[in-house]
Amino acid sequence: MSTGEPIQSFEKLRISASMLKAMKELGFTKPTPIQSESFAPILSGKDIVGIAQTGTGKTLAYSLPILDALPYSEQMNPRVLILVPTRELVLQVVDQLEEYSKFKSVRILGLYGGVNIKQQIEPITQGADVVVATPGRLYDLAVSRILQLKNIKQLVIDEVDVMLDLGFRFQLNNIFDLLPPRRQNIMFSATMTTEIDLIIDEIFIKPTRIAIGFSGEPLKNIEQVSYAVPNFYTKVNLLAHLLSDKEEFKKVIVFVGTKKLADKIFDTLEGELGNSISVVHSNKSQNFRIKAIEDFDSEKNRIMISTDVMARGLDLEHMSHVVNFDTPEFPENYIHRIGRTGRAGRMGKSIIFFTNKEEDYKIEIELLMNMEIPELDFPEEVAVSSQLIPEERKLKVAKSPHGNSAKNQKTTAYHKKADKNTKENLGSKWKREGSKKYKKPQRKGDKIQNRNSKKKR
Ligand code: ADP
Ligand code: MG
Repeated sequence: MSTGEPIQSFEKLRISASMLKAMKELGFTKPTPIQSESFAPILSGKDIVGIAQTGTGKTLAYSLPILDALPYSEQMNPRVLILVPTRELVLQVVDQLEEYSKFKSVRILGLYGGVNIKQQIEPITQGADVVVATPGRLYDLAVSRILQLKNIKQLVIDEVDVMLDLGFRFQLNNIFDLLPPRRQNIMFSATMTTEIDLIIDEIFIKPTRIAIGFSGEPLKNIEQVSYAVPNFYTKVNLLAHLLSDKEEFKKVIVFVGTKKLADKIFDTLEGELGNSISVVHSNKSQNFRIKAIEDFDSEKNRIMISTDVMARGLDLEHMSHVVNFDTPEFPENYIHRIGRTGRAGRMGKSIIFFTNKEEDYKIEIELLMNMEIPELDFPEEVAVSSQLIPEERKLKVAKSPHGNSAKNQKTTAYHKKADKNTKENLGSKWKREGSKKYKKPQRKGDKIQNRNSKKKR
């Protein structure tokens, strides 16, 4: 936790001249709170757990002390291993690390799946100091002995919450087994969950915890609003209406829960928006994904439709809006979605569409953030559609409001708990005549609020 005043300059951190020069060149005038507070603890060699909001510079928080203290070497085996959940993040973290160490001789190598493993042998034999990798590919390369992990002295698990959401738990354990036991473990995350705590208990030794804000605390520089929208096609109409304002909606990412619906939205809007819109999800080829994200980031495309997985953790420049086309069932997903804007202290806007069925999810998000998302009136000029997609038709006949798939069953306990927390019955907004505002219970106890009360999938 905080040890006092945050350090106001990079000079005061006593980083080397080469690192200082890189910071200057990047226009970074002072470390962010997570950066100044993590610096000394990471240098001390102790195990570290760092929690800070999206876009607050966690990559530099761990890489500054690591890169600064890394002695020059010509040895082949890497000494630092950074694990990230997606291939896109490998590329981004490699880019960031290269900029941060621009004036220092450090060999950084990114490794990820989806490309022929043979292509990666050659760069590995060139030797590397820092390896940034996704768990799956890293494991394959390590067990096949193409990559030697015996010299790893520091392990960083970045975006841990995302990693676990994607089901990497098992693979992480396998990797831990291949690493030398004497090493420094570092993890960074935007949210804290019980599952993360389990990993910490298992592999970390008396970790120092550095937390800026509480888990799930939204960034103040993200303006959030919501619209109650009855169904999919009405959401599409509203989205098209909003996006037609090109001045306001300059650079927009639209999040959707499933690939199928992402494609459906794209197909419906493509005619209207032409080549200013793209869609990315895991069924698209790696090259397509990289290009789509590049085109969006360089503002060739104004709008990108994406599933949660694809854009999590990505640092996209100057995003004007995040649109949550649907309301995520797990509130942390919302935190990650809106965290694509409002980065590095800039202003950003988030809009969430929620149906009657999704209103409970919205309330869970509000409970996690400890704030209400203001609701805007549905614009009169937008047509309300009565056409339903198959998923919505199915819902009408389902017995339970959450359906009865295996996935939903697993979350029952969690929802029960949430229902208990939300003292008033939330019911249907559409049916409710008096539209009474619910009372939000105050959360008490640990600052890392959802640490013990959260049950994940
Ligand atoms: P997080 O992992 O916390 O979501 P990132 O590490 O991706 O955030 O950083 C978010 C953005 O902030 C990046 O564009 C990065 O270049 C920028 N940034 C990082 N540290 C600083 C700093 N000290 N001053 C200004 N900008 C910074
Ligand atoms: Mg990050």
